[in-house]
Amino acid sequence: MIDDFQYIDAPTPSLLPARLAELRQTIAAEATLSRRGANSVALVAVSKTRPREDVMGALSAGQRLFGENRVQEAAAKFAGLHDDYPDLDLHLIGPLQTNKVRDAVALFDVIETLDRPKLAEALAVALKAPGVRTKRVLVEINSGEEPQKAGILPAEADAFITDCITRLGLPIVGVMGIPPVDDEPSLHFALLREIAKRHRLPWISMGMSGDFALAIQQGATHVRIGTALFGTRE
Ligand SMILES: *Cc1c(COP(=O)(O)O)cnc(C)c1O
Repeated sequence: MIDDFQYIDAPTPSLLPARLAELRQTIAAEATLSRRGANSVALVAVSKTRPREDVMGALSAGQRLFGENRVQEAAAKFAGLHDDYPDLDLHLIGPLQTNKVRDAVALFDVIETLDRPKLAEALAVALKAPGVRTKRVLVEINSGEEPQKAGILPAEADAFITDCITRLGLPIVGVMGIPPVDDEPSLHFALLREIAKRHRLPWISMGMSGDFALAIQQGATHVRIGTALFGTRE
């Protein structure tokens, strides 16, 4: 444990193992408080904008699950790492353009951001190609119905998920979402949980540095944490 948990300050690589340990402890404690298993919530270390050394530091400290929001940035940063760390688990958490789908399914173990019908069609084709790494896909829900934000609207979520699974055969295992900044996040987390429950989807990816405790209370199985682990991004 470190007494002075100053994650807003500039990152100090030597602090990474301690921050990771503290975060894991907090996550486990929140899961236990919610009467769930201490290991029932996975930490997605969001390394976007951070250098490869930060990823290496986290890997040395035992972290294997990472989130990146851009295909090209992740391809460069994680080059060769799946060979060195066979249990590396890389998640795409940012928007995916259809012209990058082939690169994305070769690189990411999980795509968390299936956010529109056209992308579902493209994924269905790309996932049939040889050399595909992606095994799981989450549907991104725009729970706040924000026009500028990606994601399926809540009213359309049921039909979209059903179509992805039954007609397209996509390996949909859960939902992900980002609540609107000015809203009470718990309502949005609960909405995501209900959608997952209706379709018996086991994964719910929600909660970031500022609200992951609330997300766990509402049933998150994956929390995506960047700033609280690696420090402030530029
Ligand atoms: C950047 C990002 C995160 C991490 O945000 P922090 O507040 O730095 O923890 C989580 N999810 C998504 C989709 C992101 O783009």
